[in-house]
Amino acid sequence: MGIVVVGSLNMDLVVRVARHPVPGETLLGSDYESYFGGKGANQAVAAQRMGGKVRMIGRVGNDGFGERIKTHLKAQGINVNATICINAPTGVAFISVDKAGQNVIIVSPGANSRLKPENLSPIEFEHTAVVMLQLEVPLDTVRRAARIGRESGARVILNAAPALPLSPADLALFDILVVNESEAQAYSGLAVDSPESGIEAARKLRQHCPTVIVTLGAQGAVWASAEGEGYQSAFEVRAVDTTAAGDAFMGALAVSLSEGRSLERAIRLGAAAGALAVTRPGAQTSLPTRLEVEAFLS
Ligand code: ADP
Repeated sequence: MGIVVVGSLNMDLVVRVARHPVPGETLLGSDYESYFGGKGANQAVAAQRMGGKVRMIGRVGNDGFGERIKTHLKAQGINVNATICINAPTGVAFISVDKAGQNVIIVSPGANSRLKPENLSPIEFEHTAVVMLQLEVPLDTVRRAARIGRESGARVILNAAPALPLSPADLALFDILVVNESEAQAYSGLAVDSPESGIEAARKLRQHCPTVIVTLGAQGAVWASAEGEGYQSAFEVRAVDTTAAGDAFMGALAVSLSEGRSLERAIRLGAAAGALAVTRPGAQTSLPTRLEVEAFLS
């Protein structure tokens, strides 16, 4: 049984600068570098590397980037039949990085914002154990994906990032809600900076969604569900770049659940994948394989 990801696909264009320009100023930067990104695509790749059978549903543009993204995902073994190239620009993140490593990022959602609820067909969700969603495509589309996923018997996981104003009725559409510290804070209204405050936020959010996981970076993750509550400490690693830790966590969680493992086991695998991802630079390039995660855990 597979995993369906309905979400964003971006090209990340990175230029290095001595310092960021002020309004009205022009600066020269380095040659630009391009990376595959978008939370949807990152999590699809994360799940595929963890051994999942993944189908990605999304929209890219007809500007050259779109075809590059599709070719790249297909080469990894991801089914992109429902990732369609449309007459619009591809989603792009324009990122400048200064000498201190500080980022300034502008995201142009482009084709991602054109993925409409009516573009989703229940056929695409057949034989699916887990539907994995984020909030980088229109909210109405995320809602419909959750409904179709549930109707087809899949478990529906939302990584509620970036934080958007979701109603209690929205939160009730998902079986599992995964949020990091700042998102947990935004959705629960509680300050979240520790396992203790994370579990408080998870309990509060569980009034709406049956299972809530709060990831806490180097402090690990906590969860609350009908079966109980728990804490997974982070694996100790030397962090070089924390980008995509959450995406690695999501991919491993989804695959583990699709294999019928317990929530606790799935979160442990997620934490291991997240830990490995922070030991390497980049987003998709840092996502670990199943073999790497199992070797790390053994
Ligand atoms: P996000 O990238 O969405 O903000 P987190 O930073 O919470 O997500 O990371 C997701 C998971 O990855 C954490 O729950 C943790 O298990 C693991 N992780 C993240 N940062 C580290 C770190 N510095 N050391 C070890 N594990 C980490």
